[in-house]
Order: sequence, then structure tokens, then C-alpha cells
Amino acid sequence: MRKLVWFRNDLRVSDNPALAAAAARGEVVGVYCVSIEQWRSHDMGDRRLAFQLRCLHQLAAKLAALGIPMKVLDTPSFDDCPNALLQLCQAVQADELHFVDEYPLNERKRDTAVSATLSAAGVAVSRHVGDVIVPPHSFTTGSGGVHTVFSPYFRKWLSIAERNAESLERAPAAQTSSVASDPLPESWDGVSLQLAQADWQAGEDEAQRRLQTFVETSLGNYGSQRDLPAINGTSSLSSWLAVGCISARQCLSAALYAIAAQPELQEGAQKWIGELAWRDFYRQIVAEFDHVSYGHSFKRALDVLPWRDAPEELQAWQQGLTGYPFVDAAMRQLNQTGWMHNRLRMVSAMFLTKHLLIDWRAGERYFMQQLVDGDFASNNGGWQWSASTGTDAAPYFRIFNPESQGKKFDKHGEFVRKMVPELATIAPKNLFAPAQEAGVSYPAPIVDHKQARARALEAFKNL
Ligand code: FAD
Repeated sequence: MRKLVWFRNDLRVSDNPALAAAAARGEVVGVYCVSIEQWRSHDMGDRRLAFQLRCLHQLAAKLAALGIPMKVLDTPSFDDCPNALLQLCQAVQADELHFVDEYPLNERKRDTAVSATLSAAGVAVSRHVGDVIVPPHSFTTGSGGVHTVFSPYFRKWLSIAERNAESLERAPAAQTSSVASDPLPESWDGVSLQLAQADWQAGEDEAQRRLQTFVETSLGNYGSQRDLPAINGTSSLSSWLAVGCISARQCLSAALYAIAAQPELQEGAQKWIGELAWRDFYRQIVAEFDHVSYGHSFKRALDVLPWRDAPEELQAWQQGLTGYPFVDAAMRQLNQTGWMHNRLRMVSAMFLTKHLLIDWRAGERYFMQQLVDGDFASNNGGWQWSASTGTDAAPYFRIFNPESQGKKFDKHGEFVRKMVPELATIAPKNLFAPAQEAGVSYPAPIVDHKQARARALEAFKNL
């Protein structure tokens, strides 16, 4: 009997525990469920879908080289998965289904339904840990609760994570199979395979190349350069991690290996490892607190915050026309490239939620629609952190001043000049408050920083 491996956001052959376990037990057949309606309802945008499709093509090519066929199922909604997978098990004579666990609520419900349907029909279901380094529920606080504060979580996480990173799974050995692969789509939901291809090279090899380049060139300086959007100081691996072309464990392993070989990289590498831990941290929040997946504030009491209904201001923010150059540069980077630097995500998210007092859910949605690395747990966690409604969030009175953030993290204005070209000729001293400069076609600030800050403080204080 054959073993079916259901690929989801784990589009890789190396360090894929579901694939490794199945291959150790017999002939493998891969399967991918195309759930367009569901993905769109999760606000997945065109660039993300195109990238995902390219990564699927790359995976299928790698599997083909190993003699592993890939089947493709049309399951518009997650509800369609149980029966479609059962029929496939019967058609290819598979007695086992293997997959890597995912943590958002809809994905968990889908997986529970699939497990129930297949188990009832005599197909054994094996679930594996491969999306995180340390899975949710691995440890608790001293009083038995869930860690909702990052620092103590990180201390416990680190000791387990280092052990888990020691045993990466290899790609399986080649096999022969008489099962034929299905043709892969060249587009889905009107989104072409080629969309934004030049900027977003797909696949596992590209992810490994990026990891290696980052470790060799930027890991040691990560601590000092990670906040500077004008330079490539971060790994830019988030999109490949989001679809699982690379595992977070492979990233951790590379960082630990680099530290062992070059102890001088320790400081930067430790900081970077901390970011990998944030990724796991937000996944355990999503796994433990269902209300987050229902769109509620993590701090439920803050669901009643008096958010403003200001569609024109929301639109100005989306288009990068707020009159605050650092915020506008951020939003234009997002719109043009499908990615935004982490410092800018925090600044622009805080601007929307604090300066404009617009509901974080509107920003979360817009980011999701634009980002290639759009990922429910990290996006929701980042938004709720910025809005001060989340776990271990910025305190409500911490409101970034976009002008001073720009002066601090884009000191010479290179990033702003690049993304907001109408400001290219502005004198450095006025670059972050250009309304003072005559003859420049750039909007005046849509809110006054001091007044907006006071309004936000009032709204939060009243609760
Ligand atoms: P690096 O600095 O090289 O970090 C390595 C990896 O660690 C990242 O690829 C990412 O997987 C993880 N990571 C880093 N920072 C964080 C963080 N704060 N939270 C969780 N994981 C982190 N990240 C996403 O992957 N998808 C999202 O949809 C997303 N939305 C965000 C929204 C907001 C409002 C904020 C403030 C942050 C968001 N992040 C999101 C987190 C972070 O901004 C990106 O992961 C990071 O900018 C990606 O760049 P990088 O790969 O160069 O990261």
C-alpha cells in the first residue's frame, strides 16, 4: 500500500518530516489541494498566489526527480478536502496520509475533519511538526498557563529549539512509482504563474541560496542593521518561510552552525534567532486562543475601542499619500514590491491604528492582500502588537513619531528618496517634514502628530 503526503505550506523536500516519515514506510504519492475560495476568503493576494503556484511547480519538479508523483485536487473550500482526499487514497491505494500541522483555526478544523473521515475509512493519519521549531503546547508558564509574554517564552523556547535543530530531515531517496502525476495549473483564479516572477524567484533552491547569502554577508551585523530599510540587513526569507520552501528549523540550524564556526557572529545571530522565535510565539498564540482567528483583539476588553470610520484616510494610507514620508515610503514599498521591511511595518501599522485611529483589522486585511509573505499568525500578531491590543504588545502610550522614526532609521533619507521620488530634491533637514518646502507636489500631513497622539491616548485611556 502507498503513503500519501499532503503538501500545504511545506513546499519542500528537505527537512520535511511528513515526507521523510512517509518515505521511510513505503512508496510515496504527493498531493496538493487547491483551495482558491478559501484562500481568497483569507485575503490572499495575487502576488502571494502566483508565488505559491511557482513554488508548487518547483516542488513537483523536485519530487519528479525523486520518482514521486504529484496529484492535484480541486477543493475550493477546506470543507471539500476530506472527501477529495479519501477518494484519492482509494484511487491510488494509499493506507496512510501524512501532513505537517498548521495552527490557524480554519486549518485546524479542516485537518480534524480530514483525520476523522480518513480514519473512519481505515486510512491511518500521521501529523508531523514542520511549520515551527518548537510546537505549541511544548511547555507552560510556572502556573501551567500559556506564555503570552515573549521574553520568558523565549528562554524556554531556546533550550528546546537548539535540540530540535540538531536533527534535520534529509530529502528522501529516489523511488519508482506507476502512479502518474497530474498536470499543474499554469494559473489559478486568473492569476498567472508568471506574475511578479522576476522579483520573486520561487522554490527551495532559491530559499537555500538566500539563507546562505544572508548568513555569509549579514548575519553578524543583523543586530545593528536590521532596522535600516535602506540596506539589505535582514534575510528577506519570510515569503519562502510562509509557503514552506525552507523550514524555520533549517534557518536556526544554519545560524547555530555559523556561531559555532565563527563565534564573532554570535550577537547578530542571537538577535536573528529571536525573530525565528517570534514566529513560533505567534503560532502558539493562534493555536491556543481561538478568538484571535475570529477577528477579536487578543485583549478582548479592547474590542470596544472607538475606531474611526475614515475611508478617505484609510485610502491615503494605503496609497502612501499621508504626507508623512516615512509612512508613505513604507506603503509604496508594500504596493510596489509585495514586501515591507519590519521597522516600516511597525511604523505604518502604528500610524494607521494610533494616528488615524482606524481599526487594526483594516490594516491587517490590506497587508494580507498585498504581501507575498502574508501569514495569518505573524500578520495578526504584528498588527495587534502595533495596535496595543495583542500579546506582549507595545503599551498604548507608545506611539512612534513617524518623523523621528524616519530621521533615526533612514538618517540620510536614501530609502524615502527612492520610494517617494517626488521628494528626491528636498534638503535632508526637511525630508521627513516636507510640507515646509515650497513647490513640492506632495500632500500635507493628513493629521497633526501631536493632536493625533492626544486623540489616541484619550481613546485608550477611556477604556
Ligand atoms: P528577518 O529579520 O530576516 O527574520 C527572519 C524570519 O523571522 C522572518 O523571515 C520571519 O519568518 C520571522 N520574523 C521576523 N520578525 C518577525 C515578527 N515580528 N513576527 C513573526 N515572525 C517574524 N511576517 C510574515 O512572515 N508575514 C506577515 O504577514 C507579517 N506581517 C506583519 C505585520 C506587521 C504589522 C508587523 C509589525 C510584522 C509582520 N511580520 C510578518 C513580521 C516581520 O515584519 C516579517 O517577518 C519580516 O519583516 C520579514 O523580513 P525578513 O524575512 O527579512 O525577516
